Amino acid sequence: MSLTPTATIAAIATPPGRGSIGVIRLSGDEALNVTQRLLAKPVEFTPNHTTFHRVYAPDTSELLDETLITYFKAPHSFTGEDVIEIACHGAPVVLAEVLRLLKSFGVEFAQPGEFSMRAFLNRRLDLAQAEAINDLINAQTGYQSRIAARQLRGELSQQLQPLKQELTDLIVYFESSVEFVEDDLAALDLQRFNQRIDGLIEKLERMRASFRLGRIIRSGIKLAIIGRPNVGKSSLFNALLGTDRAIVTEVAGTTRDMLSESFSLNGIPVHLMDTAGIRSTEDVVERIGVARSKTAIAEADFVLGVCSVDSPLTDEDQALFTEAPAHLFALNKSDLAHEWPASDLDWLRACAPVQHVSAQTGDGLEALRQMIYQQLLSHSPASIEDALITNERHYDAIERTLAALHQAQVALAAGFTEEIALNGLHKALRALGEITGETLLADILNQIFSKFCIGK
Ligand code: GDP
Repeated sequence: MSLTPTATIAAIATPPGRGSIGVIRLSGDEALNVTQRLLAKPVEFTPNHTTFHRVYAPDTSELLDETLITYFKAPHSFTGEDVIEIACHGAPVVLAEVLRLLKSFGVEFAQPGEFSMRAFLNRRLDLAQAEAINDLINAQTGYQSRIAARQLRGELSQQLQPLKQELTDLIVYFESSVEFVEDDLAALDLQRFNQRIDGLIEKLERMRASFRLGRIIRSGIKLAIIGRPNVGKSSLFNALLGTDRAIVTEVAGTTRDMLSESFSLNGIPVHLMDTAGIRSTEDVVERIGVARSKTAIAEADFVLGVCSVDSPLTDEDQALFTEAPAHLFALNKSDLAHEWPASDLDWLRACAPVQHVSAQTGDGLEALRQMIYQQLLSHSPASIEDALITNERHYDAIERTLAALHQAQVALAAGFTEEIALNGLHKALRALGEITGETLLADILNQIFSKFCIGK
């Protein structure tokens, strides 16, 4: 996609398939003219108004559809260019026909993310906001959508603005000191300078710390359920999901393969991985399952250990939970009239908190969910309210900003020339600017926008 777009572009903006309406979106200088060519006679469109129009095939004068057309006049549109939205009936053949006609009038099919890229290039949005639109569209839980909506409103960009300003001030201050003072910087100046960099580092580190929680909200967590065969892992898996996804039988080793499903835990997507009971086995199929379970445990963000009240802790259990430490234990089958030995309970509690549950009756399940949730939050230094960094690219830019600031400080402390320290500050400003997009190269911008859907 060009950084100086000239073509008028069009795409179907609604999802593929049949629907009650389907919207074709156009953007560019010719949007109004080409739309006129679909109508029987010239129309005076009023900006921000939606009006009813019949659309015809100009070559045959055949009626194609009855539509509602909305006109957004540049620069007050999503892309900053003239934008037309034609709401047709949601028949794929009609939409395809209108799009084909527009193409024959010289309009180009939009690339994925091209509307958003134009909005960015015309400064209607910064890059973090454009990415937030994509996150909002792809949100799977209410939580994700709320965080994306906050970023779309510009929350991250606003938080970054004073930091960028401070960095710019520091660069100006430092450059003028270097220019106007004959000797090296005075010790006093250096100290103040370092303090200001410290202030920036502290704020950026807080933002960086919010990433763990941000990532959890954005991508969810992987939760592995581990335990000996027959303690009720599959039953617990199903109970947490509220479905009958995993196969449950009384024969040990039925869950031969690993299953994976997701549920929403207070808005956080939890990808559950039921693992085949880990034990030494001769059965080949089961052996593959066991190997996969070990990989699942290694990949998991959260490990839920399961034991059952009807069978005391064995050496095998202790070996497993030592090898793969659990964050939380579910002591299952609490509906059975069995007491667990106090020493076993003590052993488990010394490893992680224990919750009594019954996968069969549902007893203790809600408490288990909330304990998982609390534990997830307690590992994160940030709160949901300031979970701002949700995007890997933003996190990486903050990491590089911090590294460059440290580099500047080290250079100053080591008594290197001011140019080396200044170089670090410039690098920091460039890295920070990448988040909102002002310091990014064209091909990187293209890469980012190409991950968007067509029509966005
Ligand atoms: P897994 O091998 O650890 O996955 O265990 P399963 O989920 O396949 O369960 C093994 C057996 O324990 C099955 O017969 C289940 O019906 C039974 N079971 C599972 N959870 C409970 C429970 O909470 N209470 C009772 N009474 N039985 C359970």
